[in-house]
Formats: sequence, C-alpha cells, structure tokens
Amino acid sequence: MSEIVYLNGEFMPLEDARIPVLDRGFIFGDGVYEVIPVYSRHPFRLPEHLARFSRSHDAIGLDYPMTDAEWTRLVRDLITRNGSEDQSIYLQVTRGVAKRDHAFPKGVKPTVFGMSSPLTTPTRDAIEHGVATVSALDYRWQKCDVKSTSLLANCMLRQVAADAGATEVVMFRDGFLTEGSSSNVFIVQRGTILAPPKNNLVLPGITYDVVLELAQTNGLTHQVRPITENEVRTADEIWVTSSTKEVLAVATLDAKPVGNGKPGAAFRRMHQLYQDFKRTVMRQAA
Ligand code: PMP
Repeated sequence: MSEIVYLNGEFMPLEDARIPVLDRGFIFGDGVYEVIPVYSRHPFRLPEHLARFSRSHDAIGLDYPMTDAEWTRLVRDLITRNGSEDQSIYLQVTRGVAKRDHAFPKGVKPTVFGMSSPLTTPTRDAIEHGVATVSALDYRWQKCDVKSTSLLANCMLRQVAADAGATEVVMFRDGFLTEGSSSNVFIVQRGTILAPPKNNLVLPGITYDVVLELAQTNGLTHQVRPITENEVRTADEIWVTSSTKEVLAVATLDAKPVGNGKPGAAFRRMHQLYQDFKRTVMRQAA
C-alpha cells in the first residue's frame, strides 16, 4: 500500500506529492519540523511535540499555520490513512515558494507537509548490548534548540558515526557535552543520572523530558548540570535518547568500552520504566 501524505490541504499518495523548486525549504533549508512516535495508533506526547513545533516557528519568525486542534486532526488522519499500529509522523513547514532572495518574502503561504512512516524502534540486540558511538566536535550553529530542517551539519556529523560503523556521535563544544546528531545524551556517574541543561546548544528532547520525569517520579538520583568531556569519557554509563531510539545504552565511545562495555543497571531500570510508562499512557489513551 502506498503511503498517504498531506501537502498544503490535500491527502495524496507519496509519489504524487510535489513541491516547486523555489520552495525555500529546498533552496535554503528554511523550515521547521517535528517527528512524533505513534504506538498502537496513539500519538505519544503530542501536545509536547506541538508546543515545541510552535516554539520552532516563533524562533525563525514563521507564522504557525494551523492551530493545535488542526494539527491534532491532521496527525490522526495520517495515522488512520496509513493504518499500521506503530508509526512515525513527520510534520514540516517551510516559508513557502518565492523568488530566491535570502530575506524573508512577504505575503507568501507556507508549505505544510505531513507524512507517516513505519516506526522503527531499536532492535533487541541494540537494547541488550548497547550501541557504538564516536565523539565529534559540535560545529553546528548557536540555535540548536530550534528543530530546523537545515540539518546539513547534523547529517555530516552522523556520517562520521556511519563511517566508523557507529550508531551515533557524542558531541562536545568548548569541552562540554552537548548531544548527538539526532538524540540527547545522558551519563551515569556513581549512580547519579546526569543530563546537560536545556539551552541554545541542544534540542529540548521530548524523550529527554520523559527520562527526567521518570527519574523524578521513581526517586532515581539525578542532576541537570553542564557535563565535561572528561566526565563523559569516564562515565559508568552513557545513554542516548530520542523519540525513535527511546533510551539506548552506549557500549563504546571511540571504540573504548563505557563502564564494563555492557548496558548498566541504571540503563536497564530506565529502559523498563520507559516501556512501562509507554504502555500505561497508551492504555489510558485507548
Ligand atoms: N537532539 C537532536 C539534534 C535531535 O534531532 C533529536 C530528535 N528529534 C533529539 C535530540 C531528541 O529529541 P526527541 O526526544 O524529541 O526525539
């Protein structure tokens, strides 16, 4: 069955969706996006994803083209039309089609796009054995809190990992941990879960918030503070989190084992709490 996508007010098969080459998303990467996981046909943390989407629009001076109620209806329509139980909903808005000129055009309608793909969550092997990572200098811009479609630096950084046969990069800026190319990074140090603070240098992950909430509600010792590169390199555990990776343990950083090179006790606890939490939320939504 062909995937059904939404483009500027209409649903259509993916292969029929077309945008003009002067779309500023194509020309400048001038747009913002969201990725929302769907479990058993229920979008996970949708209000939080929409709140971040709206903030991304504000940050780049783009009008939020639909209300949250309209986005919610669109997400539900995409879920229904695409049918599978677990999906990944992708929403993107660009500044629209205009003569190529850097400054923002006036009176242009934004391009609104939505699609669904099958959700691919981590394999059992990745969960049980952890994943490989490599370190990289975070050379992205100073607005990493904006979920912008200008992802060239993130793609280049992910390629560094891919070339090394690794799953993700762990990035440092000025000697401090920032995040991965498409995930947030936590460490565990002598039983304490540590997370870098949310600021302009990291994307405020929805999964990051869930992990910290689970730590809070379950009385797990945790702290949000700047984390040095040395702390990461000597951590007992490193985790990467995102809507599609959920919570994953890092087995190696630059080919050196993290802790004993196996997912640690704190990871196993958090992974279980995350799976239980997902199930509870989905049961409540059903
Ligand atoms: N950081 C970056 C750079 C990302 O692209 C993502 C994935 N959207 C994340 C962190 C994790 O965010 P979330 O938990 O909302 O998927």
